[in-house]
Amino acid sequence: MTETARYGKVILKLSGEALMGDKGYGIDGAFVDRIAGEIAEAVDLGVKVGLVIGGGNIVRGMTVAAEGGNRVAGDHMGMLATVINCIAVHGALAKRGVPATVLSAVPMPNICEPFSQRAATAAMDEGRVVLFAGGTGNPFFTTDSGAALRAAEMGCDAILKGTQVDGVYSADPKTDPSAVRYERLGHREAIEKGLAVMDMAAFALARDNSIPIIVFSIHQAGAIVDVLCGSGRATVVGD
Ligand code: UDP
Repeated sequence: MTETARYGKVILKLSGEALMGDKGYGIDGAFVDRIAGEIAEAVDLGVKVGLVIGGGNIVRGMTVAAEGGNRVAGDHMGMLATVINCIAVHGALAKRGVPATVLSAVPMPNICEPFSQRAATAAMDEGRVVLFAGGTGNPFFTTDSGAALRAAEMGCDAILKGTQVDGVYSADPKTDPSAVRYERLGHREAIEKGLAVMDMAAFALARDNSIPIIVFSIHQAGAIVDVLCGSGRATVVGD
C-alpha cells in the first residue's frame, strides 16, 4: 500500500548527538547515510523537508563556559559545529541524488549560501531539502529554538523532533520504571506538567504559532516516514 503523508511541510530536528551513532564523538557515516535515505523517502512522498541539526556531537557553548571559557565564543563554536553537521548530511543526500541546499544563519558564502527566508522559500518550493545551519545565528539560543524559528518562518505544519526516546514520558523512562509515555499532549498541558519537550524559548515559539511538535526515537529505523504518515510511535504535542 502506498503511504500518504499527513504533513506537507516540516522541520526535522536532529540533535548533534544523534549523528554520533555508536561513536563517542563526531559523525558516524553509516548513521548519516541511513538518515539521508529516510529523508529521500519523505521527499518521494511529496513532503517538503527542512532540516535543523544540533552541534552537541562536537561542541556546546554551555560546556565551553562550564570549563571556564567564554560563553559567546563557545556558542559561536557550537553554531559552527551545526554547519559541519549540515555539510555532512548534505553530502549524504547529494550521494543519493536528493536535491538539497545548506543555508547558514551565519554567512559563510565560500562554504554555503546565507540564510534568508526568501532563499529558503524558493528552495523548498522547488522541492529541495533545506538544511538550516548555524541555528538562529545568535548566542544564548539552541538549535531547538532554530528549529521552531524556521518552522514558523517557513509556515511548516509540524516540527519532527528525533530524540533518544520514543516520545514524551511522565518521568525519565531510563531511571523510573513507572514512567508513562503520552500519545498526545496539549502545549499548555506539557507546560503544566513541567515536561521538557524542547527548551522554553523554542517551545513558546512553537506554541504561539500553533505548530505541533512530534517527538519520536531517531534510533527506530524508518521512523521519519512512519511519523510523517501518522503510523509511528511518537508523542504529538500540540493543541
Ligand atoms: N547555538 C547557538 N545559537 C543557536 C543555536 C546553537 O549559540 O541559535 C550553539 C550553542 O552553543 C549550542 C550549540 O550551538 O549548545 C549546539 O546546538 P545544540 O546544543 O542545540 O545542539 P544539540 O543539543 O541539538 O546537538
